[in-house]
Amino acid sequence: MSTLQQRPTEHVGHGHDGDLGDQSEAVGRRLSEVFAENIFSLSTFKDHLSESTYERIKGVILKQEPLDLETAEHMAQAMIEWAMRKGVTHYTHWFHPLTDASAEKHDAFFKPSLNLEDRGIESLSASELVQREPDGSSFPTGGLRATHEARSYTIWDPSSPTFILETKNGKTLYVPAVFISYTGESLDYKTPLLKANHALNVAATRACQYFDKTVTHVFSTLGWEQEYFLVDERFFNSRPDLLLAGRTIFGGKSAKGQQMDDHYFGSIPIRVQDFMKEFELEALKLGIPIVTRHNEVAPGQYECAPMFEETNMAVDHNLLLMDLMQKTAIKHRFRILFGEKPFAGLNGSGKHNNWSLANSHGKVLLSPGDDPGSNLQFLTFFINIIKAIHDNGDLLRASIASAGNDHRLGANEAPPAIMSVFTGALLERVLSRFKTEGLVSGGTENEEVIDLQLTKIAAIPKDQTDRNRTSPFPFTGNRFEFRAVGASANCAAPMTVLNTILANQLTAFSEEVERRTQTNPNADENIVAVLQGYMPDVERIVFNGNGYSEEWEKDAAARGLPNTRTTPDALKAMISDKAKHVFGAQGVFSERELHSRYEVLLENYVNKIAVEADLFEEMSRTQVLPAALEAINKLSETHRNLDGMGLKQEAQSIVSQVVPIAEQTNGLTKGLTELKKAKAAADAMSDTAAMAQAYCDRVKPLFDVVRSSIDTLEGLVDDRIWPLPKYRELLFLR
Ligand code: ADP
Ligand code: MG
Repeated sequence: MSTLQQRPTEHVGHGHDGDLGDQSEAVGRRLSEVFAENIFSLSTFKDHLSESTYERIKGVILKQEPLDLETAEHMAQAMIEWAMRKGVTHYTHWFHPLTDASAEKHDAFFKPSLNLEDRGIESLSASELVQREPDGSSFPTGGLRATHEARSYTIWDPSSPTFILETKNGKTLYVPAVFISYTGESLDYKTPLLKANHALNVAATRACQYFDKTVTHVFSTLGWEQEYFLVDERFFNSRPDLLLAGRTIFGGKSAKGQQMDDHYFGSIPIRVQDFMKEFELEALKLGIPIVTRHNEVAPGQYECAPMFEETNMAVDHNLLLMDLMQKTAIKHRFRILFGEKPFAGLNGSGKHNNWSLANSHGKVLLSPGDDPGSNLQFLTFFINIIKAIHDNGDLLRASIASAGNDHRLGANEAPPAIMSVFTGALLERVLSRFKTEGLVSGGTENEEVIDLQLTKIAAIPKDQTDRNRTSPFPFTGNRFEFRAVGASANCAAPMTVLNTILANQLTAFSEEVERRTQTNPNADENIVAVLQGYMPDVERIVFNGNGYSEEWEKDAAARGLPNTRTTPDALKAMISDKAKHVFGAQGVFSERELHSRYEVLLENYVNKIAVEADLFEEMSRTQVLPAALEAINKLSETHRNLDGMGLKQEAQSIVSQVVPIAEQTNGLTKGLTELKKAKAAADAMSDTAAMAQAYCDRVKPLFDVVRSSIDTLEGLVDDRIWPLPKYRELLFLR
């Protein structure tokens, strides 16, 4: 790798990003002591405020009651006292515009005074805490606002705790916030999620009260599993594609990949463990209940998962953790890849969203219990969810569409782009009996035991369902696991759609049940009848077989289930009449907001593919082609020398080495010309939808053509000349 050592990238020092706060004091302490020490949570309020103020705040945080300025003033006071005691000097609203990154703008607590005899004071007023006004003109708005109308607001979201982030040189208080335009339209991921959560609360509480009048609210829970790759810093810096696009746009297969199945759950390398322990500790201090870590399937791929939480909080925690992981990786001289498909031929990365519902008593509404066939509350939620997925699979598909995720969905490894539901055989039986017989007890006893007949190893009861890795939406015991979400995605997008479509479905359900109750006072009978009416749709979308198989693709087509493979196609669902109706009825998106979001997501798609197209051009011209030409020259020289010595036959054998390199070089230049033409044609399109379509249909397919020449060249050109780290180095050297 001598060429790598000469690269300027070698000399890139530790970025400041790596300078997280000192952790040595926390090592060796019980995790329960460290947990949440850097957040201002509900319990911190309890310690700081009077009983009555605390009760008000509890209402705001837990029940989404409105926040009045007087309470906010108390909260601001308590917060600044706490923060200053911890050495915090600045605060920022922390929000999530429609980009890949969160946004922040720091202000000092310190207010200097114009009076020279006065040294100024540190303060935080309620109005500063509650509302800030960042210049919004540089964030994507999808036409919601012209550049000269820059005004936009961030508004505190008290339902997610404020937290302190430390770096070596200071501490800042982060205040989670929504981000909206001057006219009140949402410009971020959080606002619609909060609206969807509210809609779900209203609709699900109404349905819950058929079974338990004491239920006051219902919320969704989210436990995400985050997959990622780690790459050594030096290799990362030497690959312009990793640096700028977060994925390798080419690279020949290494002799060994994941075929030996020796990485999944394998022993975690010490260097990687050190990295994991550090970001986990930092996460725990921030109240992120991270508990699981392991190797994933591909070499260099890992996963972490927390204990599930209320959805809004879980989403914030995921974003915060991704940020921490990135910073910690830099400190450990790694780079982290959250992209959905960093390496061709290896598994991509997803972010499984485990999603369920809980009521104000803490009961998980999707727990089937011992006797699901007679558990009407369980069946009500279970069937309504499947019906909602059936009616709105296209919206769900749109919520996870991105250029990166297109490489996973339908590419025979991740869940397919067809939205179906896996229930497991047992619940499939329960459903089919329910369809004709209504509530029926029994028939689902689970007495099976796996007994290894080894006295020292305990016999264990067999799980009710096996796992299904090939379904995008399997039921896994007491929750659904939306597996099709991409690793880099903001979970708020799919969670917003899930909660909205369920709210919409439950509203229709309750209306129908209540309509029937006017003529039949037996509520249970009405509930059963309405649910039974959903069964044909439910059965259409339940699929318990192999989602990767070709038969399923055919079967799904016969069932009329869409299989939307590309982002531009998938996003169209966002501006359909149905989308306007569903999101409008639930108060989550106005028509204007849907259109603006559609525009932004298409622009993101176009930008991603355009960057990759430019990278193909640049890396080919400045790295790949020069290497190929050098190889040709060296071989030609050898040929001349041998020929000069009269070794005709030996010289001829050199020709056979030169020819394929020259051919691929030629192929590559032709491919690049095509690519450039296609990109120029796409860029000339007048509207974003047409442009995205052109990038999808004309530009992206040429990547495969160009890539194939480059990958072939990589296998032909002298390793000492090849200027880029190869897959084997990126994936196996740690
Ligand atoms: P897997 O075996 O599927 O990889 P993991 O242990 O990695 O499972 O992750 C399972 C995730 O599901 C965890 O984040 C866990 O907290 C979450 N989970 C468990 N129960 C619920 C629930 N009721 N609602 C939401 N998420 C849940
Ligand atoms: Mg897992």
